[in-house]
Amino acid sequence: MRELPGAWLQKACRLLVLFCLLHLLAVLFYYLAGSALLGRPPAADKEGGLATRPSARAAHSPPGDNASRECPQTSPWLVGPLHVEFSQPVNLQNVEKDNPEVRDGGHYTPKDCKALQKVAVIIPFRNRDEHLKYWLYYLHPILQRQQLDYGIYVINQGGEETFNRAKLLNIGFTEALKEYDYDCFVFSDVDLIPMDDRNIYKCYSQPRHLSVSMDKFNFRLPYNQYFGGVSALSKEQFQKINGFPNNYWGWGGEDDDIYNRLVFKGMGISRPDATIGKCRMIRHSRDHKNEPNPQRFNKIAHTKETMMSDGLNTLTYTVVKTEKFPLYTKITVDIGSPKS
Ligand code: BGC
Repeated sequence: MRELPGAWLQKACRLLVLFCLLHLLAVLFYYLAGSALLGRPPAADKEGGLATRPSARAAHSPPGDNASRECPQTSPWLVGPLHVEFSQPVNLQNVEKDNPEVRDGGHYTPKDCKALQKVAVIIPFRNRDEHLKYWLYYLHPILQRQQLDYGIYVINQGGEETFNRAKLLNIGFTEALKEYDYDCFVFSDVDLIPMDDRNIYKCYSQPRHLSVSMDKFNFRLPYNQYFGGVSALSKEQFQKINGFPNNYWGWGGEDDDIYNRLVFKGMGISRPDATIGKCRMIRHSRDHKNEPNPQRFNKIAHTKETMMSDGLNTLTYTVVKTEKFPLYTKITVDIGSPKS
């Protein structure tokens, strides 16, 4: 018997509904597989986005079969330009919740693949807790999206002596290596936040200057030899220049000395382009006990003669306290005084 046209229509409709359901299921499956199930790192707000929070909760995920395979040269999680602002205070407990895969002391290792580099991020520090909160809030999600195996070290200068940024960085290098076999060191001021996650916090064949396009300098280099703010050196590059100088007390000059060291050892500077290298600085008044160092010009003029007798090989300090916080390791140090 021939079926009536109405029955055909009903069959076709049922098939269509079934097809739609299957389609929906497939979309849902790929969505979940692409994010939560694979342990996608915290997301970010794109520049101009409405929300101000740069991170979203990342799902816990067991190490997959891919954990032994090398991560790709370019992480698939990068999003490019980021919205960075400092209008709302940061609550660190929320940052902890938003970054559940960061282990105690501020360590993270990608779950799906083997990171290309083991990076210690060293932050010289004194009395800048509010800035540090912003830094952790913005940087943890970025560093995870960059698929780095990283640890955060805040080197806190104890006491009341004049600040000594470069010596604190030398200490960070030394202390981080006692903990883990890092092959790359990113030295970052606490008040500098990258505005693009394609500015990778890793090391290159030449020492890398990362903060090339700061809002403070109208998104330009203040001068060609500028090496301040954020830089990255491999363990070998750092050792080749005998680390950084220990005797620049107060503001200025130590970054120029580091630049000189690199050049005198035959290295060049690698930099991202001015768009990818954009970053914001948190505005602040000059720190107490960090006045401009009047000796800096004279010192910079003599890097060649002094660099091999002032640096890693003459570094002395005492660790006063080591604290493991959920998002960073804080090492308080006694670094002596200019005369000692
Ligand atoms: C200082 C540097 C500083 C730069 C930019 C130079 O005169 O020696 O230490 O990073 O100015 O402010």
